[in-house]
Amino acid sequence: MQLTLWTYEGPPHIGAMRIATAMRGLHYVLHAPQGDTYADLLFTMIERRDTRPPVTYTTFQARDLGSDTAEIFKTAVADAYERFRPQAMIVGASCTAELIQDDPGGLAKALALPIPVIPLELPAYQKKENWGASETFYRLVRALAGSTAEVTPREGRRPLCNILGPTALGFRHRDDLVEIEKLLAALGIDVNVIAPSGASPADLGRLGAADFNVVLYPEVARAAAQHLLKTFGQPMVETVPIGVQATIRFVEEVAKLAGVDPAPVLAGAPSRLPWYSRSVDSTYLTGKRVFIFGDATHALAAARVAATELGFKVVGLGTYTREFAREVRAEAALHGIEATITDDYLDVEAAIQGCQAELVLGTQMERHIAKRLGIPCAVISSPIHVQDFPARHSPQMGFEGANVLFDTWVHPLMMGLEEHLLGMFREDVEFHDGVAPSHLGGGERAPQPEPIRIEPTPVAETPSTPAFVWDPSAEKELKKIPFFVRGKARANTERFARERNLAVVTVETLYDAKSHFGR
Ligand code: SF4
Repeated sequence: MQLTLWTYEGPPHIGAMRIATAMRGLHYVLHAPQGDTYADLLFTMIERRDTRPPVTYTTFQARDLGSDTAEIFKTAVADAYERFRPQAMIVGASCTAELIQDDPGGLAKALALPIPVIPLELPAYQKKENWGASETFYRLVRALAGSTAEVTPREGRRPLCNILGPTALGFRHRDDLVEIEKLLAALGIDVNVIAPSGASPADLGRLGAADFNVVLYPEVARAAAQHLLKTFGQPMVETVPIGVQATIRFVEEVAKLAGVDPAPVLAGAPSRLPWYSRSVDSTYLTGKRVFIFGDATHALAAARVAATELGFKVVGLGTYTREFAREVRAEAALHGIEATITDDYLDVEAAIQGCQAELVLGTQMERHIAKRLGIPCAVISSPIHVQDFPARHSPQMGFEGANVLFDTWVHPLMMGLEEHLLGMFREDVEFHDGVAPSHLGGGERAPQPEPIRIEPTPVAETPSTPAFVWDPSAEKELKKIPFFVRGKARANTERFARERNLAVVTVETLYDAKSHFGR
């Protein structure tokens, strides 16, 4: 048992639903108790799809458990086939149905439907959503791609590739795909199949015809791409093109596999990020302490962009995707830190507090944590809420994606001038602590209420840690420090005092600590 309030991923059958919903002509029959249809809302409400997912639930109830639930499942499969006439079907069980052991695969096979029916074994008590998506896509590709392919000789035709990975409910998958298709077109490369997004089971049967595969989201598509490599000898590009440098690498790798020249695509200034981050207004970004958490694909990419393209200091890095823990640990080591590999948001909260981040790049959960701690935050990864399926074009990948990253990550930080002014005019009614200046209004001001002070929650301390008394003048001096760094200054000063067994923090202690840590 694990006490869980927030979970980063859903059960694996949600991953299977993400594949089925992304595709066309595929139907999913899910043996599940009444109530599991809540999952429809993820797609119709959060992703705002205009059609229901192609999923039939058996929705058995408590009273059904005394009768034949296997019969209920068989009827659901037969009815779904009659009603939807899909090209192929996947069948499986949700967490509760797994316990009643009805064997969806065997039962569906007994019906001898005239289409491929692919059984899914998704262990709901050991695995999660991304694994479920990856396994489902792999099973589909294995069952439908066949073992031989009609490949036209390479001479005299344009290179041909598959794009693998975009799913339903994926963070910015819709817009990433647009950017990647644009890049491939500019390189003179044709796209054979995009899957699972928009692909039909028949399309999966054509996968083998491509020269190589582009894997956009390794969490979802690495397993399928490895199968295609084994079966058809198709090499794969796994560099995730998030950030300018990764996009350049991606273009070069793709061009090499396709035998085309990357130079025209890389010429000029394909992204505004490098200049924006070099321009003088970005100087204050240098060394900003950033904590990064999300799925492995996005967390790894964000760490690289933050450190090498924006000049941030990565002080925390982690993922809830345990399957990719090794890669995230290796990246963290490059930043001289230890990775946070967990699916418990309380561990993540403790890690954020422990590293005294000035910016958090994370998921919807980290948004809440950062809000509570008064730290600026931007979302870089699922799980996400409805606001991260925006109407506007908002990719993460490619050169345009890099522009989006710059705006999104820098926005929550106060602009350099405001930050400077906050320190200088901390007593000013407009620039007082914790409040962004308002340029609205003017004229006579209504009396200002006492400012709300947003103090970072102190770092969790062990019971034996002595509590510090701050001399009022030291407390006053501390308030001269802009609130962004005040938490860090307080923690450093107390650490300094603790090491010297001082019971009271004075102005002198504060400045001694400052020069000690400033050395
Ligand atoms: S079967 Fe699984 S997903 Fe469905 S309600 Fe039960 S625990 Fe949740």
